[in-house]
Amino acid sequence: MTEKFQAVVIGGGPGGYVCAIRLAQLGLKTACIESRGSLGGTCLNVGCIPSKSLLNLSEEFHNVKNLSSKGIEIGEVKLDLSKMMKNKDKAVSILTKGVEFLLKKNKVSYFKGTGSFKSKNDIIIRDDKDKKTLIQTENTIIATGSVPVSLSGVEIDEKVIVSSTGALKLQQVPKKMVVVGGGYIGLEMGSVWSRLGAEVHVVEFLDHITPGMDKEISSEFMKILKKQGISFHMQHKVEKIKKNTSGAIVSTTSNGIKKDLECDVVLISVGRKPNTEGLDLQKVGVKLDDKKRVKTDKNFKTNQENIYAIGDVISGPMLAHKAEDEGIAVAENIAGQSGHVNYDTIPGVIYTSPEVASIGKTEEQLKELNVKYKIGKFSFMANSRAKAIDDTEGFVKILADEKTDKVLGAHLIGPHAGELIGEIGVAMEFGASSEDIARTCHAHPTFSEAVKEAALSVDKRAIHS
Ligand code: FAD
Ligand code: NAD
Repeated sequence: MTEKFQAVVIGGGPGGYVCAIRLAQLGLKTACIESRGSLGGTCLNVGCIPSKSLLNLSEEFHNVKNLSSKGIEIGEVKLDLSKMMKNKDKAVSILTKGVEFLLKKNKVSYFKGTGSFKSKNDIIIRDDKDKKTLIQTENTIIATGSVPVSLSGVEIDEKVIVSSTGALKLQQVPKKMVVVGGGYIGLEMGSVWSRLGAEVHVVEFLDHITPGMDKEISSEFMKILKKQGISFHMQHKVEKIKKNTSGAIVSTTSNGIKKDLECDVVLISVGRKPNTEGLDLQKVGVKLDDKKRVKTDKNFKTNQENIYAIGDVISGPMLAHKAEDEGIAVAENIAGQSGHVNYDTIPGVIYTSPEVASIGKTEEQLKELNVKYKIGKFSFMANSRAKAIDDTEGFVKILADEKTDKVLGAHLIGPHAGELIGEIGVAMEFGASSEDIARTCHAHPTFSEAVKEAALSVDKRAIHS
């Protein structure tokens, strides 16, 4: 007999599994379908988690080699890459199994296989042996995420020409790595392999890295990465990539000047595209937008009743926490509550060293919107905790409305920036002014005092600068 559900979530990534758990918490009989054989989606399997494991381990490797300047003498430091990879795989395995446990605990039925629409209320699940299971549903949530894009005519083999997935499991440190695209993935994975000993070259077709980020932060970021030994080829267009016996040749042009970069590995990190393949959306008439994302309204409803979509497969930043929040909001809407996501307070963090974190509007956006603003800035150079541990690169920048002093955005580069941005997120959610942050007592000595000082500096009354 066909099993019936009140809600079926297609995709078990951070959007999908969180949505399924919330639906079950709200009392709906829920199923979650996942095709990759392991829950947690891109994020846990081939994204956030393995990349952060390698970022952390490669940073430790790099730091330990430089301890003697701080008075700690140790013997020769050697890299055991396969052990490092095993460590990363262990983190992935623990977390993905943890999600499976959470689904079970919340009584969500987990189906392994590829989900597709037979009709609005009938979902077919095909497992890897092509066995079909049919289930019925009142509501369907599409949470099928995204996949990497390549350059036209360039085939990713995940060995010489790799996407982030291949870059997370290289079996040896490349001598030279060319990274195409100076965004989140290129700079995180470029940092990993640079710290482990590769000569890293980033080819970016714009004149700045991390497009969309506050320009002042982005140029400071590039300066710091250059100091760390990463080379940048800005305003360079990749014309072609040709594999040879030792790796590949990346042919670029800039203002008509040709340049070939020979390397053993090329990482293509020029963005990701929504994944709607195999869903048979045409059978139910779900519309896509001009970028092939599932089109939804502000309540995550598609153009079809009782079919919703969330996460990387719809518009907005491709971030795990955005997908999770949308998963919770849509579950609450389906259960008759009023879930919503505040897109003005979604932080973005790049987990390099130093970390880069951003929330709300950039200076460039405020100028374009004709909003008058004040700026408060504070350098980690003047922060006592940063000084004490000799980690003083970067600064905090807070943007506040000129008249009302309401915090409109914050942009940080520096130690633990990804943690510090949380405080500003809470402040912005509560509609705080920069003075509210400035008058909040911050523990001493902490990096968070740099946030307080930046807030004080909005009104030109920072104490330590
Ligand atoms: P996904 O995580 O992509 O999950 C979708 C799932 O659906 C997949 O597991 C897929 O197998 C499954 N699926 C697809 N089609 C079907 C089908 N028909 N039937 C059944 N299952 C299907 N974001 C951050 O916020 N922080 C980070 O540090 C970060 N680091 C990243 C590092 C890398 C290298 C990459 C690639 C991404 C990173 N991201 C990060 C982005 C983050 O991974 C995504 O934004 C997030 O995973 C999106 O969640 P999602 O649930 O929408 O989709
Ligand atoms: P991205 O959008 O962050 O960066 C792509 C970069 O490639 C841009 O700088 C763009 O100008 C450049 N580019 C595009 N086409 C090019 C070309 N032909 N030649 C040279 N440069 C080109 O994309 P990504 O780094 O692939 O990451 C995809 C998404 O995954 C990110 O947008 C982000 O949402 C997510 N992600 C997040 C994190 C995190 O939160 N820490 C980490 C990794 C990935």
